[in-house]
Amino acid sequence: MSFCSCTDTKCPLNPVNHDKGCDLCIQKCLKDNEIPSCFFNKVNKNVEDKDYTFMGFAKHVQKNM
Ligand code: SF4
Repeated sequence: MSFCSCTDTKCPLNPVNHDKGCDLCIQKCLKDNEIPSCFFNKVNKNVEDKDYTFMGFAKHVQKNM
């Protein structure tokens, strides 16, 4: 998982803590209507308000692109 840019290594869903790759992270995001942090980091690693909802991602893109 060398491409995962998530820095929350305490999260049990982070690929450093299991052998299921992105599956657990994506499942959680789909359930909660969120976007994985790697997409936020691709836009800008400084995620100010930690709002990982769809709308939060839209605002993050608008602010940084
Ligand atoms: S989907 Fe989740 S686990 Fe996969 S690269 Fe993105 S942040 Fe990491």
